[in-house]
Amino acid sequence: MAKVTVDASTCVGCGLCEQNCPEVFEMKDDGLAHVKAQDCSNCNLKDVAEQCPVNAISVS
Ligand code: SF4
Repeated sequence: MAKVTVDASTCVGCGLCEQNCPEVFEMKDDGLAHVKAQDCSNCNLKDVAEQCPVNAISVS
């Protein structure tokens, strides 16, 4: 299973990852993206990570 993390010190809270994959990413009150699941049957998480404008998402 993938290991997905968001670097809170890098994330700028644009919300794109949540738009791309709400199963895995969730915007919280702190204005940052949080990981709520490690897997998504609908998305390629590496693609979602690549679209992050500040490269805050890592998928290993
Ligand atoms: S796409 Fe990147 S910068 Fe935008 S909310 Fe997600 S982790 Fe943060």
